[in-house]
Amino acid sequence: MTDIGAVIAIDGPAGSGKSTISRMVAERVGLPMLDTGAMYRAVTCAVLRSGGDVGDPDVAAAAAEGAVIVVDDVVTIDGADVTTEIRGPEVSANVSIVAAHPGVRTHLRAMQREWMARHGGGVLEGRDIGTVVLPDAPLKIYLTASPEVRAKRRAGDVQGDFDLAAAAANIAERDRIDSTREDSPLRPADDAVIVDTSDLTIDEVVERIVSEARSRGLAREASGKELL
Ligand code: C5P
Repeated sequence: MTDIGAVIAIDGPAGSGKSTISRMVAERVGLPMLDTGAMYRAVTCAVLRSGGDVGDPDVAAAAAEGAVIVVDDVVTIDGADVTTEIRGPEVSANVSIVAAHPGVRTHLRAMQREWMARHGGGVLEGRDIGTVVLPDAPLKIYLTASPEVRAKRRAGDVQGDFDLAAAAANIAERDRIDSTREDSPLRPADDAVIVDTSDLTIDEVVERIVSEARSRGLAREASGKELL
C-alpha cells in the first residue's frame, strides 16, 4: 500500500449523515474536507443551466471539462454562486444520471486526487472515495442507515413544506442508479469500517470515526486549537 498521507474516505448513500459527520470529523482531526457530491451536483447544474440533455454522455462530459467548478464553503460555476441551487429538487432529481457518465467521473476523479495532493491529506466524502478515487486511504468509513431514517433526515434539512414520500422516492432512485452503474458503483470497500448510523447520535458517530483516525495516527494538530 502506498503511503498517501492523512486521508479519511467517508462513503455512503444519501441521508446516511455523511456531510454533517464529515465536516465535524474534519474539524476534530484538523484536516481539510472535500464534499465530492457537491462537484457532481455542480456539473449537473451546469448541464441544466445550459439547457442540455443530462442523459447525453458527451454533453455531461463537456460540462464537467468546460466549466470552472469551485467547491468550498461556497460552490461556484464559472464564478456564479450555485450553493443553494445545487441542493434544489431539479439537481437532486438529475445528479445520479449525470454522475453515471464515465467522462464526468474521470474528470472529477482527477480533480479530487489533485485536491488531495495539494492539501497533503484530508477528509473526502462521496460514493467511491475508498473504492476508486483513493483506494490506499488509511481509513475508510462506510456510513449507512435505514431508508426510513435517511428520508426523515432529509426532512430535517429542509425548511417549510416537505414531501416525505417524494424524498424517500428520490433517495431510493439515487441509491438504485448509484449502486448499479458500471463506473465506480456505490459499495463499501472491502477494508471499510461500516457504521450503521440509524440508532446513533451524530456525536457518537463522530467519536467512533475520530477514535479510528487517532488509532491510525491521522489526526493533525490544528494550530492553536486543542484536539480533544
Ligand atoms: O452526496 P450527495 O448526495 O450530494 O451526492 C449527490 C450525487 O452525486 C449522488 O447521488 C451520486 O450520484 C453522485 N456522487 C457520486 N460519487 C461521489 C459523490 C457523489 O457519484 N463521489
